[in-house]
Amino acid sequence: MAEVLVYVDHVDGAVRKPTLELLTLARRIGEPVAVALGNGAADTAAALAEHGAVKVLTHEASEYADYLVVPKVDALQAAVEAVSPAAVLVPSSAEGKEIAARLALRLGSGIITDAVDLEAGDEGPVATQSVFAASFTTKSRVSKGTPVITVKPNSAAVEAAPAAGAVEALSVTFSEKATGTKVTGRTPRESTGRPELTEAAIVVSGGRGVNGAENFAIIEALADSLGAAVGASRAAVDAGWYPHTNQVGQTGKSVSPQLYIASGISGAIQHRAGMQTSKTIVAINKDAEAPIFDLVDYGVVGDLFDVVPALTEEIKTRKG
Ligand code: FAD
Repeated sequence: MAEVLVYVDHVDGAVRKPTLELLTLARRIGEPVAVALGNGAADTAAALAEHGAVKVLTHEASEYADYLVVPKVDALQAAVEAVSPAAVLVPSSAEGKEIAARLALRLGSGIITDAVDLEAGDEGPVATQSVFAASFTTKSRVSKGTPVITVKPNSAAVEAAPAAGAVEALSVTFSEKATGTKVTGRTPRESTGRPELTEAAIVVSGGRGVNGAENFAIIEALADSLGAAVGASRAAVDAGWYPHTNQVGQTGKSVSPQLYIASGISGAIQHRAGMQTSKTIVAINKDAEAPIFDLVDYGVVGDLFDVVPALTEEIKTRKG
């Protein structure tokens, strides 16, 4: 069976959920071989083996933390040369997409970004993408070289699938370009205790209808009752009510959670572009004609200042 390389996104050995989702998809098209780089790379092996990695190729070097993405591209290229995989899967994060694009260029291969599903095809893996603000679903496959595919978080379930997960050291020679862009400082954002927006299983978003920065407290309270991330429309962000890092949409982040709750958001096409692949969509809006209701699974016509706190209380009561 062909091997499929999976790039491991981890923080000091703790594997992030999108990588485990990639392992689920990789198993559909071949045998997953994970590539873990940098500090704590070997510590990822147990989690990766639990989720189907037959092998974990590791390489630790200070270059991965000290420079931007090129050392990681060098390492993935070395892994491709060592394994000759059927495909390379990378999480669709900002960094993941840069790594994937550079790798595809190096390999002279085709690339598919922001896939939301993946299946085996007669002539190679077939990726599903949601395009034109999710008004179309396309299926495509790479027809040249080793397919490089980035996959959006929450596109697949995390599944337990115990495998050998044998750790092997990857031999990497860094290119001259690897040390071209040095990281000069890192300032971690203050933690809200909430999940990362693009990875969250549930997102609760507020728009212009929230009508003020202080009112976002009710959106946050609903999010916290569900263990969700908080999103915002551009109107709310432009008004200075919520940080740009939380903006969902064409010029913000693209999310694909199991559940997306839009409160006081009209459903402009640019907002839809960032959330329309969510599995279940709920909207709370006082205007029954708001376009958001065209795409929801459940709609509540009502004042969010009544509905959102009532919903939060109900969820808290049911959770006990
Ligand atoms: P509005 O469209 O003003 O809607 C507010 C909604 O709240 C209304 O439907 C109203 O009925 C409802 N409401 C008001 N009060 C209440 C209440 N008390 N209870 C319940 N409902 C209430 N937008 C994004 O979101 N993300 C993007 O990334 C993005 N990128 C863009 C890029 C470009 C190039 C352009 C041109 C625009 C972009 N926009 C983006 C802006 C987009 O076109 C809309 O203007 C924006 O999404 C509107 O935000 P909104 O739905 O919060 O506000």
